[in-house]
Amino acid sequence: ALLEQQQKLNEERINSQTRTTQLLAIAGLTGLVTAFFLGYSLLSHRRHRAELIRLAERDELTGLLNRRAIVRKAVELLSRARESKGTLVIGLIDLDHFKSINDRFGHAVGDQLLQRLAVALRTALHTREVFGRYGGEEFLVLFPDMTMEQARQGSEKLRGALREQHMRVDDQEVIVTLSLGLASYEPGDVLFDQVARRADIALYVAKTQGRDRVEIFN
Ligand code: GH3
Ligand code: MG
Ligand code: MG
Repeated sequence: ALLEQQQKLNEERINSQTRTTQLLAIAGLTGLVTAFFLGYSLLSHRRHRAELIRLAERDELTGLLNRRAIVRKAVELLSRARESKGTLVIGLIDLDHFKSINDRFGHAVGDQLLQRLAVALRTALHTREVFGRYGGEEFLVLFPDMTMEQARQGSEKLRGALREQHMRVDDQEVIVTLSLGLASYEPGDVLFDQVARRADIALYVAKTQGRDRVEIFN
């Protein structure tokens, strides 16, 4: 009887151990599955957030930074130039006779030319410059920590790159050109608008001097 009792006790112990092991395994598995789903949802949340930021900052037609994003960048670089006594040159671009290009070849061709300007920007300027679509057919280029001469050279390179983006429409060659006004941040400038206004004046000079040219604010 004693042996029988001993054996029964042994069996119960083994059973209880097995149950504990099973429970632990289930708990571990549940934890693993939960961790997997948590990680997955965190990752998709991050991806979703990144996509939202991209949509909020990009211009749909050209894929460039939109006005809000490029102005924010300009304000940021201006404060940096002020704080570190560095330099900042800004370039304002306006396409030449774009209204008449739209009238002659249609709005869709105009849109394609805007996309080609984006290609030219990416081809010609790919080091430190930051650029974006400022308005309809107006674009902004920022040249941080660069001299006016470096900015001018970059601008001339861009002017050439756009010429190479000509397209054929109904057996006709369409070439769009740009006018560009350059101005630099001066000590004492507080607002981006102060620099932008000078670049706009230089752009106006480029237009009146015959277009398809780069002018520096004087
Ligand atoms: P200028 O050489 O003096 O700049 O002449 P312009 O005809 O380019 O004059 P302006 O800059 O005032 O005209 C801008 C034109 O750009 C008017 C508008 O029809 C066109 N435009 C603006 N945004 C878009 C766009 O998203 N797509 C197309 N296709 N055209 C646009
Ligand atoms: Mg314009
Ligand atoms: Mg124009």
